[in-house]
Amino acid sequence: DLLVVGSANADLVIAVERRPGAGETVLGSDLAVHPGGKGANQAVAAARLGARTALLARVGADDHGRLLLDAQRAAGVDTVGVLVGGAPTGVALITVDPSGDNSIVVSPGANALLTPADVRAAASLFHASQVVSAQLEIPLETVAEVVRCLAPGSRFVLNPSPPRSLPGDVLAACDPLVVNEHEARVILGEACVSDVPEDWARLLLAKGPRSVVVTLGAEGALVASREGLARVPSVRVAAVDTTGAGDAFTAALAWRLGAGEPLTRAAAYAARVGAAAVTRAGAQESYPTAGEVEGTAAG
Ligand code: ADP
Repeated sequence: DLLVVGSANADLVIAVERRPGAGETVLGSDLAVHPGGKGANQAVAAARLGARTALLARVGADDHGRLLLDAQRAAGVDTVGVLVGGAPTGVALITVDPSGDNSIVVSPGANALLTPADVRAAASLFHASQVVSAQLEIPLETVAEVVRCLAPGSRFVLNPSPPRSLPGDVLAACDPLVVNEHEARVILGEACVSDVPEDWARLLLAKGPRSVVVTLGAEGALVASREGLARVPSVRVAAVDTTGAGDAFTAALAWRLGAGEPLTRAAAYAARVGAAAVTRAGAQESYPTAGEVEGTAAG
């Protein structure tokens, strides 16, 4: 089984002609409310593919929390690990202009209250999981506790987003660390002098993770481990909305790794899932089933 530990947010989206500057008010479209947050997205993406998936997260006792729980259950995610209360559900306030550029304010809300104690209390979920996947929209000490609570032999996948520098024990547990270009640059910091993704992968690997995956948008991805480097082909699609593509990629990767596939093959499958996700609007609403992924071909 796959356990996702992470955030759950309500995405509140308003389309605007122009994003407002300081002190400015603009009128926009009707408000759209979507289930989101990297943890919730990953869990839905994996479950849509057919993975047995549980989510460990925290939402508020409010309408946004119920929206998120409903979306998880509709996708078939086990929600026993979704804790309720303590603060309002996390929210992302998003304005998006006609060119697709956006401005986002995130209120972590209940996500900030997902604690190391909550992780320890979820021991039965950890014991049932061959793979545990996390991101950084929850407290870093909670992610560090996830690493300590991994069942023997189970695998840890981390997408360090939003990126920040990571403690050595967290980095050492990653197999793989999954980053996009921006995350790679932030984590490497001053060590990132190159524009070549192969160099980022090598430098990231030197920081201690067992393996690294760099996602490259329409260019596919790059896989690196002690055995070497490999490019993963992209799938050519007409991109409509790239929101949540990275979450779909990481979820698919974690699921295939849990099924015993080698990293390169799992990443190739994940690239097909990420490509399918960009062909439809939204995040969770855009995620394909395994059958829909079968209809795509690398090229
Ligand atoms: P993020 O969403 O975190 O910024 P990327 O943009 O790298 O991450 O996308 C994650 C994965 O989704 C890519 O590795 C690729 O497999 C797929 N993907 C994203 N954008 C496209 C695209 N325009 N065409 C095809 N595949 C894409």
